[in-house]
Formats: sequence, C-alpha cells, structure tokens
Amino acid sequence: MTTTDVLVLGGGPGGYVAAIRAAQLGRTTVCVEMDRTLGGTCVNIGCIPSKALLTSSEHYDFIARHAAEHGIGVSTPVLDLAQMQRRKTEIVGQNTRGIEYLFRKHGITWARGRGTLKGKGVVDVLAPDGTTTTYAAADIIIATGSVPVGLPFLPFDEERVLSNTGALALAEVPSHLVVIGGGVIGLELGSVWRRLGARVTVLELLPTILPEFDAAIIKAADKVFRAQGLDLRTGARVTAAHRDGTRVTVEYAREGSPPERIEADAVLVAIGRRPSRTGVDAAALGLAVGPRGEIVVDAAMRTNLPHVYAIGDVVGGKLLAHKAEEEGIVAAEAIAGLPAHMHYASIPSVVYTWPEIASVGATEEELRAAGRAFRSGSFPFSANARARTLGDVTGFVKILADPESDELLGVHMIGPSVSELIAEIVLAFEYRGSADDVGGTVHAHPSLSEATKEAALAALGRAIHI
Ligand code: NAD
Repeated sequence: MTTTDVLVLGGGPGGYVAAIRAAQLGRTTVCVEMDRTLGGTCVNIGCIPSKALLTSSEHYDFIARHAAEHGIGVSTPVLDLAQMQRRKTEIVGQNTRGIEYLFRKHGITWARGRGTLKGKGVVDVLAPDGTTTTYAAADIIIATGSVPVGLPFLPFDEERVLSNTGALALAEVPSHLVVIGGGVIGLELGSVWRRLGARVTVLELLPTILPEFDAAIIKAADKVFRAQGLDLRTGARVTAAHRDGTRVTVEYAREGSPPERIEADAVLVAIGRRPSRTGVDAAALGLAVGPRGEIVVDAAMRTNLPHVYAIGDVVGGKLLAHKAEEEGIVAAEAIAGLPAHMHYASIPSVVYTWPEIASVGATEEELRAAGRAFRSGSFPFSANARARTLGDVTGFVKILADPESDELLGVHMIGPSVSELIAEIVLAFEYRGSADDVGGTVHAHPSLSEATKEAALAALGRAIHI
C-alpha cells in the first residue's frame, strides 16, 4: 500500500489543477488518470483541439472570402485536411506534455490506470499492464468529469454517428453533416465543417439555438449563423435515426408540420453531457448524488463523506473547464485548512464561433423573471473604429446594471474576440463593480475594448459614439 496526503481521481482541467495546488501547499499528491495522456476531455477531445480547428477553418474561410477586400489576391485555397488535423494533434500534444512537465516540477505522481474508490481513503489503480496498486490517501478529490449524452436509438460509432471526439477527427469533409443540438458543441463544430465546405443542418429541440444566452444575443447569433450557411431548424424533435452503411437517416418533427426525414453522411449528436463517475460506486460508498447523477458538494467542494471532495463536471452546474479549475483550487485549499469556498456569480460562458459569444451574470430575461429592475446599454461593433479596421463589425456589447446602485448584473457580448473582452467584465464582477467603473476607465484607442466602455456609458445614458 502506497500512502499519500492527497489523491486526485481524474487528470482533466479540474483534477490536474487541484493536484498542482495541493502540491504547492506541501501535500504529497497522486493523480490517477486512465487515458494515455493527461488533460481530460478539455485538452484531448474538447476545448483545445476544437479551438485549433476553429482557428484553421477561420483562416481558410478568410482567405476564400475576405482576402480580396484587403487587397490580397490569392488563387482558390486548397484544403489539406490531413495537415490541419496534424497541427491540431501537435497542439494537443504540447498541452498534454505541458501538464506532465508541471507534474514533474511539483513532484506529483501520475498513477496511470483506472482508479476505483474503495472507501476509507483507499483507492485501487489498475494499470494498463494488469497490475493493481493500492493507495491510502488522507484526502481524496473526485474529478472524473462527464461523458456525452447519446440518443437511445442512435449509438455513437465515432465514424458516422459522432460525439465531439469523432467530429474533431474526421479525415474527410462530409458533404452533409447533421448536427443534433444547437448548443455550444453543435455550433462550434458545425461552424468548423461548414467553413471547410460541408452542408450543415442543425436540429435544435427548443425554440432557439443557445437557449441559455440572453435573447438579444440569440437573435443576433441566429441571424449571423444562417448568413454563414448553417441551416438552423429549431423546435425540431428527432424521433428516429439509423445508420445504413455510409448514410445516416434522421427523422424529426416540428410542431404543426408533417414529420421530415433528412439524409447525411455524418451526424454529430451534441445534446449535452452527463456526470461520469467511473470507479466511484456512489451507492456502495454512501456518496450523496443529485437527480442527474451529479455528486452533491458544499461550497468548499466537500461531499457527504469525510475527507472526500468532488469538483468539475461530476458535480454538475456549468460544464466548463475554468469552473472545474477553480473548484479544484478550492478543494485543495480547503484540504490545507485555508478558508476557501466557491462562488459562481462571476463565471463567464464563451462560444468560440465567429463572431464569438461571451457572457457573465444574469440575462435580461432572468432579471425580468426575478422582477429585478435594471437599466441596459448596448454598443455595436459597427461603431467601433478597431472593428472597422479588422473588417469585423458584426455584433455588440450589452450591459445590464442596477438602476439604483449601478452594480453590474449581466454583460453579454457577440463580436470579434469577445472571449478576451469578457475578462475585464469578469474582474469587475468579482469586485461587484458598476457600469460607471467600466465606463470611467480609460480604454486604449483604437481597441475593441472601447465597445465595452461605450456599452457601460450607454447604460448610464451617455455613450459618446452612438
Ligand atoms: P449544450 O447544453 O450546450 O447544448 C445542447 C443543446 O441540445 C441544447 O440547445 C438543447 O436544447 C439541445 N437538445 C437537447 N436534447 C435534444 C434533442 N433530443 N434533439 C435536439 N436538440 C436537443 O451541450 P453540448 O453542446 O453538447 O455541450 C456539452 C457541454 O460542454 C456543455 O455544458 C457546454 O457548456 C460544454 N462545452 C463548452 C464549450 C465552451 O465553453 N466553449 C465548448 C463545448 C462544450
């Protein structure tokens, strides 16, 4: 039996960050990961490879459609998808190797294999060579992540019925890709394959795409994605689907319309993810779980079992790498006796389409539903000088603030590089900042960030450039 202070089950962004923080705090730390590489879904089959392909496909699209506007003459670009995929794989490798380096630097042991929580601080790790090592840990952090939800009648084969994993690894551009689910994965990966030449049809169950975002953002996104050629069909309930050789047939119904049937050479099912508790038998351990299988935790990420913590997608809430990372830090600090606790008010959400979408805080609809008074200001990128020079004038920044105290309540952006612009607002949120704080701060000119300042001034009724 090998003893350790802290054992982290899972080496994704929640788990590996928790391990590093625990080691920084002087704990001997073991991180159990069964994949061939560290980094979990985000680094291997999620955030990082998708952003690599999003960037490559944006370049391709730019060269094909916009280079001439800039006075750059090019012949028709030729797609080398194999090279694009090699570049993606190399970027993923840089990240996974980077985590291994950080583990070495902090003296963290990577226990390669499948961990099973036996109770009372004991974890068995079954290595790929069939040997089992038993660890006894003073504290355990469960960070086992999530898995994609499938459709019962259309099992994933990752060849033609794809989750994010298969949709990131296609060797050929499909002629017709059907995407089931108009959420974050569906729109990001649908955009990649649309730009590279696929016909893309998105079937979304609810009346709008991106249902959790502010209605003004949804409206603008819907318009711009349609203009980019995404065939968005909302209010569409998929009733049946099957694969027959190289074709997949999908049947769906929209209220008030006769059922429809479409054929595709690949289908991406992106209808959400659910907590994964590999190696954690909650019933046998007496571990409390919620209705969706998520592990129940308090603000310091403690489960109901003593010395057992849980973080990241397995505890539910927003399934975001940066939320998991922060929870990992909180768990490691709580183990070290520091007064750490998680608060969720200022966690940004970003969609890496082009234009990008970024949001923090309440939507206008949520404020209305809560009967909360607010004032609102918006500023369009078409009135921003830097956006004009970039040739990227689609979108706006919208700021919602309290009419009395002026505290920021929600900020919603669609436009160029808003994944970066939102950071300023998140900081303001952390300090319960106001529209006046943002509007009164000098922003470099010309810069996209001036749109944020102007939206704050608009909420105060004194924008300069509109
Ligand atoms: P999601 O929750 O973002 O979107 C799922 C969509 O599918 C929703 O719009 C939902 O209404 C729809 N849907 C559900 N059942 C359906 C059905 N039967 N038919 C048609 N539509 C249906 O989930 P996702 O896109 O699968 O992403 C999974 C998770 O990964 C999300 O929680 C997301 O936040 C996270 N993620 C984040 C990023 C990012 O931060 N940029 C990128 C990718 C994934």
